[in-house]
Amino acid sequence: MKIAILGTRGEIKESLPRHEKHSGLLIDDQLLLDLGEKEFLETKPKWILLTHLHPDHAYFVRWKAEEMPPTAAPIYAPETPKHVLIQNAVQLLDQPIKLASYTITPIPTHHSKLVKSQAYLIQKGKVSLLYTGDLVWIDKQYLDPLRSISLVITDGSFLRKGGMVRKDKETQTLYGHNGIPNLIDLFKAHTSVILFVHFGSWFYKDTSSAQKKLEELGKQNGVQVLLGHDGMQLTI
Ligand SMILES: [Zn+2]
Ligand SMILES: [Zn+2]
Repeated sequence: MKIAILGTRGEIKESLPRHEKHSGLLIDDQLLLDLGEKEFLETKPKWILLTHLHPDHAYFVRWKAEEMPPTAAPIYAPETPKHVLIQNAVQLLDQPIKLASYTITPIPTHHSKLVKSQAYLIQKGKVSLLYTGDLVWIDKQYLDPLRSISLVITDGSFLRKGGMVRKDKETQTLYGHNGIPNLIDLFKAHTSVILFVHFGSWFYKDTSSAQKKLEELGKQNGVQVLLGHDGMQLTI
């Protein structure tokens, strides 16, 4: 499975040449995960899977008609949008689906109190990728059965332990982004390689020390931790 990381910047003002584009990654030149920039459509994907309907993952939810995605590829998401302009552009995906040689399993995630979110487990032969999008947590029942995932790609919004997680008083919903140490903790029993993307402000202040800090966290936890950048290519 060939993976091209198209964007690694969170929903923040800061930008750097290698960390400029919002979320997107392309598998084998045909399966696009997240559509944080309209230009990602130039890769001509066959299918598009969205983790959630926030604009840094689905650029077109800014509700302007001229921003509608001009693509014949089906767009799958954890919910169909309420907004009339894009209602028909997006299909609900809440069950595993087979697309050519890929088996794709949506996995519910905690991230927002306003939009639904899900990770995707993409399996092709013996190789598997888990891409989470923005993340507070994944419930045990979904993660427990997953062992030996070839690669996990997840949320680098916050370096500090605990990230920025809040709880809605009425619904008890957890929302926000967890910290990188917590996410390493969450995934280390399920994979040996974790790639962080979707960087927050902490990362833009000093990228070389960011690299060191993440490597150190990886060592402490017995996993390989990688930092993504726009244009990064890897094969699993
Ligand atoms: Zn985001
Ligand atoms: Zn989000």
